[in-house]
Amino acid sequence: MSKKIVLLPGDGIGPEIVAEAVKVLEVVDKKHKLGLKFEEELIGGSAIDVHGVPLASSTLEKCQAADAVLMGSVGGPKWDTLDSSIRPEKGLLKIRYEMGLFGNLRPAILYPQLADASSLKPELVAGLDILIVRELTGGIYFGEPRGIRLLDNGERQGYNTYVYAEHEIERIGRMAFEMAMKRNKKVCSVDKANVLEATVLWREVVQSLSREYPEVELSHMYVDNAAMQLVRQPKQFDVIVTGNMFGDILSDTAAMLTGSIGMLPSASLNKDKRGLYEPVHGSAPDIAGQGIANPLATILSAAMMLRYSLDQGEAADAIEAAVGKVLDDGYRSADIFSEGCTKVSTKEMGDAVVAAI
Ligand code: NAD
Repeated sequence: MSKKIVLLPGDGIGPEIVAEAVKVLEVVDKKHKLGLKFEEELIGGSAIDVHGVPLASSTLEKCQAADAVLMGSVGGPKWDTLDSSIRPEKGLLKIRYEMGLFGNLRPAILYPQLADASSLKPELVAGLDILIVRELTGGIYFGEPRGIRLLDNGERQGYNTYVYAEHEIERIGRMAFEMAMKRNKKVCSVDKANVLEATVLWREVVQSLSREYPEVELSHMYVDNAAMQLVRQPKQFDVIVTGNMFGDILSDTAAMLTGSIGMLPSASLNKDKRGLYEPVHGSAPDIAGQGIANPLATILSAAMMLRYSLDQGEAADAIEAAVGKVLDDGYRSADIFSEGCTKVSTKEMGDAVVAAI
């Protein structure tokens, strides 16, 4: 049976890096007989230029009917002055919302070959492999009421609401436990239960869910301590599960441990495990069109897509192993280049991964 993949290259370096990921997918498709069918659509600034909106309804419908969506990145100076209602980023927020993508998976993996790229000592980070599971559609970013109001004394007051219903905590918790079962069977749930009632409930729900996963070792950690531990001894973590705001901050911290943003993939999944897969980085307008962007984050996002939405773990392993081999062989794009390695273009990096597969 064929599997439908919608490609949304987007803006800036998006089309260059997605092209390399497609090349890699085509090779594993042939080798592992996956039956992938690709359809390409517009998102972000390129969609605004053609359709007048950052995500056309017809594109959204195709994404909702697909098995998975692989995206490049959106945005760029060309569209920065547009009205905020039709900015490129709105297309991304809309697709996340409409597809119900509540679970954001952000692996922070540091290939031992790149340990020098981290700002931490190599021995602290070499071989790092953390998965941050962030709740993406709830919490304080969406809670009502919110706004800026005028107080009786004439002073303005800003306010937001940190809310999580039990079902929201349970479904993201379940995603984290399921992921841990496929990894090292450890979940650390991050909250601020000493101060925020909403996270007292978070802790309770995660704790009771853990009874369904007796093999998984569950721990709880306050977010301030988690931030500290991430830079003190990051390898103590396997899966971290947390709410939207804490996840936003911790996943960027974890990303930086790895040194290069050009290496980091991500996935956003809904309850049917359909998902949107994209590199963590943006559209890098400063290097767009030069053929020097690192395509590995997008290639690794494609591997996540095979693993989580298409249940093709072996094919995903093959891509990840090929990336390891390419790094072993000393190939580096400009962003991860160091003395003694071979500097390659976007296309040459894609070709090297294809050859390694
Ligand atoms: P960015 O991630 O695009 O770039 C930050 C720096 O990292 C730049 O110097 C860039 O050249 C470099 N970089 C990023 N990806 C790289 C890669 N694959 N290979 C080599 N170097 C790479 O972040 P920014 O400059 O803050 O944002 C640029 C645009 O991207 C903005 O319009 C922003 O809104 C958008 N953005 C989009 C997404 C997304 O689509 N999910 C995420 C973040 C930013």
